[in-house]
Amino acid sequence: MGWTDALRNLEGFSGDRLYGEPLSKHTYFKIGGPATALAVPKSEGDLRLLAKLIASENVPYAILGLGSNLLVRDEGLDLLCLKTTKLPGAAAEEGDGIRAGAGIAVAAFLRKAADSGWDGFEAISGIPGTLGGVVAMNGGTHLGEAADLLLEVRTFDLRKPEAPLRARGRDELKFSYRKNHFLEPGEIVVDAKWKLVRGDSATIREKLDSLYRRRKETQPLDFPSCGSVFKNPKESGLRAWEVVEKLGLRGHRIGNAQIAEKHPNWILNLGDAKARDVIALIELVKSRAAAELGVTMVEEVRIL
Ligand SMILES: Cc1cc2nc3c(=O)[nH]c(=O)nc-3n(C[C@H](O)[C@H](O)[C@H](O)COP(=O)(O)OP(=O)(O)OC[C@H]3O[C@@H](n4cnc5c(N)ncnc54)[C@H](O)[C@@H]3O)c2cc1C
Repeated sequence: MGWTDALRNLEGFSGDRLYGEPLSKHTYFKIGGPATALAVPKSEGDLRLLAKLIASENVPYAILGLGSNLLVRDEGLDLLCLKTTKLPGAAAEEGDGIRAGAGIAVAAFLRKAADSGWDGFEAISGIPGTLGGVVAMNGGTHLGEAADLLLEVRTFDLRKPEAPLRARGRDELKFSYRKNHFLEPGEIVVDAKWKLVRGDSATIREKLDSLYRRRKETQPLDFPSCGSVFKNPKESGLRAWEVVEKLGLRGHRIGNAQIAEKHPNWILNLGDAKARDVIALIELVKSRAAAELGVTMVEEVRIL
């Protein structure tokens, strides 16, 4: 019996299980071949059952939030994808902070924040991922990043099916630009405690709305993408989009993947683009930036 049969027979699992599921349906890019299986756990018990299965069957796996920072290859992934979007945990005040489940979409969290008078989340506004993805990626904008807003992160370790959740306080949460340095392989963020700053609901809503309007003006949101493709190569003194601009690649197209005219650090899926076309554009930028400008470009998007 293979691991997919073991997954089918997993007794007590309350989440969803899909087989041969196209990952193009689970990524913002709308690109990516099928996963052998995709599991959407709905409880901590589900996570523990999956962890036991992974350990006993030696199952390769990947963790997925809303797939807004992922590029999945066309041939798909021969592994078990764990999607976090149905993990439990509504956002609620807890002592000096707000505890919120990792599977909550940032947009839903911010609506709740505005309604509840929780201020100070401008830095993550407009990010189309889950809170867990924002923690893992240290998501942010020019206004700040997740690292500034977190008090505690709790994780479940897929390598330790019986262990309690692990809580890390601020001093253990190490981040750098669009990166965390504390999650070990196998650790899933299950929830986090965010700083509580009180404010007026109407003012918070207005601030968030105006940031969203600004995004719509400046970002090419009409086609699927993963947002910024490259990290800003800070040591060069240039922003990522400026590098692409200097190379004359604004609007450059391979197949149905195109470097956005509106924002050259974005690659758009104009319709049924292939991962190989996006990767070819990424490689083109990287090789030309190194050869012509002496700049090392590093991807922000994670390629699976
Ligand atoms: C239109 C658009 C605009 C964007 N704008 C911004 C922006 O302004 N700022 C910004 O920082 N990013 C931006 N992004 C990128 C993306 O939204 C962020 O990186 C986001 O944090 C990813 O969250 P996700 O849930 O979609 O994670 P996914 O893309 O599903 O996963 C990203 C990584 O996080 C890991 N991960 C996800 N959830 C968990 C979890 N619970 N536990 C452990 N690991 C986990 C995954 O394994 C993967 O390695 C944008 C993307 C798009 C499409």
